Amino acid sequence: MSFTTLGLCDPILKAIQETGYTSPTPIQKKAIPLILKGDDVLAAAQTGTGKTAGFTLPLLERLSQNHQNTGTHRGQPKRHIRALILTPTRELAAQVGDNVETYAKYLPYKSTIVFGGVNINRQISTLKQGIDILIATPGRLLDLVSQNVIDLSRIEILVLDEADRMLDMGFIHDIKKVVRLVPKNRQTLLFSATFSKEIKALAAGFQTNPSLVEVAAQNTASERVEQVVYPVDKERKRELLYKLIDEGRWQQVLVFTRTKHGANKLCEYLVNRGIRAAAIHGNKSQGARTKALDDFKEKQIRVLVATDIAARGIDIDQLPHVVNFELPNVPEDYVHRIGRTGRAGREGEAVSLVCVDEDAFLRGIERLIAQKIKKVIIKGYEVDPNIEAEPINMGGGRGRRGGGRQSQSKSSNENNANKQGEQKRSNSRNRSRNRNRSRGNNA
Ligand code: AMP
Repeated sequence: MSFTTLGLCDPILKAIQETGYTSPTPIQKKAIPLILKGDDVLAAAQTGTGKTAGFTLPLLERLSQNHQNTGTHRGQPKRHIRALILTPTRELAAQVGDNVETYAKYLPYKSTIVFGGVNINRQISTLKQGIDILIATPGRLLDLVSQNVIDLSRIEILVLDEADRMLDMGFIHDIKKVVRLVPKNRQTLLFSATFSKEIKALAAGFQTNPSLVEVAAQNTASERVEQVVYPVDKERKRELLYKLIDEGRWQQVLVFTRTKHGANKLCEYLVNRGIRAAAIHGNKSQGARTKALDDFKEKQIRVLVATDIAARGIDIDQLPHVVNFELPNVPEDYVHRIGRTGRAGREGEAVSLVCVDEDAFLRGIERLIAQKIKKVIIKGYEVDPNIEAEPINMGGGRGRRGGGRQSQSKSSNENNANKQGEQKRSNSRNRSRNRNRSRGNNA
């Protein structure tokens, strides 16, 4: 099957040709015809399999098919926002926005990206000039709506990218507000790599008879990603990471930590040892976040230490190595993290440094991906059997996540604590606090 047979118009085909894609990916083959037909679509696909084009190409085609309805004003098309794409992170919004611009290059549509952390005035003046396609993070979008700069009443297509994240506790209220502002009679597309049962149920409230598209087993990463666990004591993790990077001559490594503080500390350690590194997380200014990601993509820095804000959707061309310096407490995040490598048909390696405290997290991940991850003991870094598991402190932040995810974090912490024989009251206080803490606020 080629893009031509999918029924896309010439300007879109020309833009695709310029990107060098020769044929649609499996998710594109399945989702594009359904979206062109006008269906609501709930699409689950592995990370890095071309989801963005999977919704953007048919979205552009649908807009151009309905173009005659938009009319003109003094010879210029009368612009109003016709398509809205929501993403959970600013980086992903920027990336999706770039994709939209690429694929819409030969179409008469204007798109723009709005997200928080940057000057709002420039966004306001761009929006006032008229926009057809808006890519946004929910917070800034609602801010602009409240300032009467954005009118969502004529949206034809609503897309939630990384939809499972968009529908969880952190965003659900904002999403509900947005849904109230867009017309009932619209097309709604939900795309993500992972979908829990709870999220599917919630999604049903936003969609009408959605077609379900799945191209591979859910909650799996690409089989091109080789996964390995290195058991190691917590105190020796950074030493081992340095050894892996240095001796393996890794030139581009994305390293994940659970907390912002942990990311800063690890970054500092690497820099002190002569490795060019930067940290990216929610406490950094948007300027610093963008610069760190750009420098990493351009190989100006060798290591990017990130919290989970960088796990979703971010596309780093040919990224060979992902390291979980700490395992995530939400098992789905593991799939998203390691999905940063092995993209677009390339090979990748995902290494997890796992200490005894994280055994329960590892079991949760293996259960989710229905696979045992290969364990390799590195000589000189064997774990000390005398070290007992300790509850994991998730750092600062308030509650956010909901559903089964929180209970994963809760049960993990409780398991560890049980091992220690319910020792101290202060531990128990920590645990109950941890239950209400979220990765979102830590990241
Ligand atoms: P995504 O899952 O949207 O983040 O896409 C992952 C990568 O696949 C990106 O680098 C895209 O540019 C690339 N890609 C998307 N569609 C195709 C295609 N049909 N053929 C080859 N590469 C593609």
